[in-house]
Amino acid sequence: MTQRNNGAAGLAAVVINPVKSPGDGFRDEFQSLCREEGWGEPLWLETTEDDPGAGQAREALEAGADVVIAAGGDGTVRCVAEVLAGTGVAMGLLPLGTGNLLARNLGIDVADPLGAARGILAGRDITIDVVRAHLDHSDQGQLFLVMAGLGYDAAIMANTVDGLKDRIGWLAYVEAGMRQLPGRPVRARISIDGGREVRRRIRSVMVGNCGQLMGGVEMFPDARIDDGVLDLVALSPRGRLGWLGVLAGVFGPAAARNRSVDYLAGKSAAITLAEAQEFQLDGDHLGSARHLRVAVEPGALTIRTAARQAGAGAPG
Ligand SMILES: [Mg+2]
Repeated sequence: MTQRNNGAAGLAAVVINPVKSPGDGFRDEFQSLCREEGWGEPLWLETTEDDPGAGQAREALEAGADVVIAAGGDGTVRCVAEVLAGTGVAMGLLPLGTGNLLARNLGIDVADPLGAARGILAGRDITIDVVRAHLDHSDQGQLFLVMAGLGYDAAIMANTVDGLKDRIGWLAYVEAGMRQLPGRPVRARISIDGGREVRRRIRSVMVGNCGQLMGGVEMFPDARIDDGVLDLVALSPRGRLGWLGVLAGVFGPAAARNRSVDYLAGKSAAITLAEAQEFQLDGDHLGSARHLRVAVEPGALTIRTAARQAGAGAPG
């Protein structure tokens, strides 16, 4: 709880991407807010190109912060979450990016940074799952909170022009996607929880920790961020309808779902591709890979929020 029984001020640490700061006055406004709410003088830690959030989050932990606020885009959120996961120290979300994927999934207002800050200071703690992704059998896992993509979706991210992305958001991804449409599917083997392999010729495999992707699209309508389960979709355009079949499968009524779209779910998944495909985590393009292993870590991350909807797919 943010209001401590002994009346001592809580300590908030803000890990902020200065490039995305809402303006020069924002730091002062946040400090005033902390005073109003009875919190101590906040730590203000700016990210750099060399250290996009992890080092600052560790510094915040060492300073004894009660809540570490990720102020930036999805990349900042991922770096801070990587450090906080498993510690029990709460993360706050101050969305300043383009996608703000996790914030949207948690029902946090992405258009009002100061309102979001107020919500954190007055918020309560919930726990959410995180997913750890291992590329090409690496021991070093990387955490994600919303989604991982291999193939088509990741290629969209890689080809999106940054300026365009800032101006028109989600539409930029669609536009980039259209440019990617020609090409050929790749043979893939997908195994859930070490079970029997599903074989498909895929254009894309996406793994979701929660349901909502860019632009409010519900890619995984049944996904919850706190159920200890990850959801996976394999897109395999084929036959006369090709991508039309995929679009009908994803966006059409449930009855229109077809073999172009496979929905799978479990605690872990392994995907092996015949050739390397582009790879992204929460919108950050991270190169290409032939093998991806993902495993959910249930309830590993504490989030402090005033948002009513705590978890994608949660009723009410
Ligand atoms: Mg889930």
